[in-house]
Amino acid sequence: MRTLQNLIGGHWTTSTAGESSAVRNPATGEALADHPWSTADEIDAAVAAAVAAFPAWRRTPVPTRAAFMFRYRHVLTAHADELAALITAENGKTTEEAKGELLRAIQYVEHAAAAPETMKGSVTENIGTGVDIEYIREPLGVFAIVAPFNFPAMIPLYFTWAVATGNTVVIKPSELCPLTTIRMAELAAEAGLPAGVLNVVLGDKRVVERLATHPDVAGLSFVGSSHIAELVYRMATGAGKRCQAQGGAKNHLLVTDSASIDACLANIVSSMYGNASQRCFAGSNLLVYDSVYDRFVDAFLAAVDELRLGDPLDPATTLGPVISAAARDRFVAAVDAAESGGATLIRDGRRATVDGFEGGFWLGPTLVEAPTDSAIFRDELFGPVRCIARVAGLDEAVEIVNASDFGHSAVVYTESGGVAREFRQRCDVGQIGVNVGTPAPIAFYAVGGRRASFYGDLRGRANDAVDFYTDKKVIVSTWHGDLVQHKPIDPAFTGTI
Ligand code: NAD
Repeated sequence: MRTLQNLIGGHWTTSTAGESSAVRNPATGEALADHPWSTADEIDAAVAAAVAAFPAWRRTPVPTRAAFMFRYRHVLTAHADELAALITAENGKTTEEAKGELLRAIQYVEHAAAAPETMKGSVTENIGTGVDIEYIREPLGVFAIVAPFNFPAMIPLYFTWAVATGNTVVIKPSELCPLTTIRMAELAAEAGLPAGVLNVVLGDKRVVERLATHPDVAGLSFVGSSHIAELVYRMATGAGKRCQAQGGAKNHLLVTDSASIDACLANIVSSMYGNASQRCFAGSNLLVYDSVYDRFVDAFLAAVDELRLGDPLDPATTLGPVISAAARDRFVAAVDAAESGGATLIRDGRRATVDGFEGGFWLGPTLVEAPTDSAIFRDELFGPVRCIARVAGLDEAVEIVNASDFGHSAVVYTESGGVAREFRQRCDVGQIGVNVGTPAPIAFYAVGGRRASFYGDLRGRANDAVDFYTDKKVIVSTWHGDLVQHKPIDPAFTGTI
């Protein structure tokens, strides 16, 4: 079996770690690769390589760094089928879902390529007599990027904004899905990224802890579950680093009496069960107006029953496996507990199997009618166990959304502008969908939730990413000599403030 290697200073190196874990294909359970849990020395070596590469990279002209992004986009696009196959193999998404992720991921590279524009500073002439003021954006040094399992291409590509702005990077991919990141790092070298600018270290939480507190790391971008996001945020900021930590979600989808149910049904089902519900934007809890509840549930269940669980490589499959046996067992236990507590199982996927794929991690679409204060309704379950509840109207729905520990996104289905406007104004979340079940802001807008869904201030992606990966330096200047026409200079700039 292939043993995965770290990328340190442009060299793929075998870890000397005694411990490792297996990367498994979720559809078969087959071990694809042995994933080492890198040692402290290896983590330090990766940081040292990034430190060494920084001075030359930050002096590389911004258009030259942007030119790398253009070449990288070309290389990633040329390898899209290969990368999609890797995503499917290690993550279990269907081929269509994997290609969809890649499309979004490549848009990150496109936005990062705009660095000559987005890195622009600002100048004001004559802020005082004979005095000019400007700010420039400077890279900060070495950034760490820590990724979750569910978007093996997209989240590690946060590195594009870090390097486009002149920083160097150490990525720690998810131990469950490192293969796509490793291949994308190889392709970055093929596109001409200099050695040491991008490093990859494999491992478990010890890698994250060391990076988050390493004296030579300037900042850390984390995406994962809320509990870990909070831990990492506290650790990194406690060590004086910049940190943005995106956490988990429990997204509510409100179906009102003014919804165009037939038109929105496919969108709702896709939000709830697409990518085996392993998306931070996945609809988790359906809130349905009492007045349309029965009609909606009949239509919704008919659409859910059309989902086809199976081999993610089969084009007919619309629901792939969940990431691991442990995740499946956790979801089954949560449904068991809800059932014992009196919840009604409207659809029960606990015993799902797929012929010929007996080793896979299967869970069929599950829908639970549960009280809105129950554990299954409130806790994040990152798999196809979804909840539904009746609501009397908008006020009750907004109250439920805002009482959630999470504030990632909320969606309203309505053809009434007034209802949509009230909903978007009153919901305390980071993203709102209006008749759009997964309101993911793509590369060109920043992403981030509220409460336990996000720790930090600058969000991920787009111009927030440029702000996160750069610091503004202000320069106030005046000049003396024959050509200078304003003498003496403004006393405000020579005196004491
Ligand atoms: P996870 O929190 O288990 O792991 C994320 C990363 O943290 C991994 O690289 C892992 O190795 C590392 N890690 C695990 N335990 C750690 C610890 N104790 N200390 C430090 N690091 C640790 O998340 P996951 O299961 O890989 O991904 C799914 C989660 O990510 C879900 O909660 C999902 O909602 C969330 N997510 C959020 C967004 C967003 O934009 N907010 C996007 C994608 C996924």
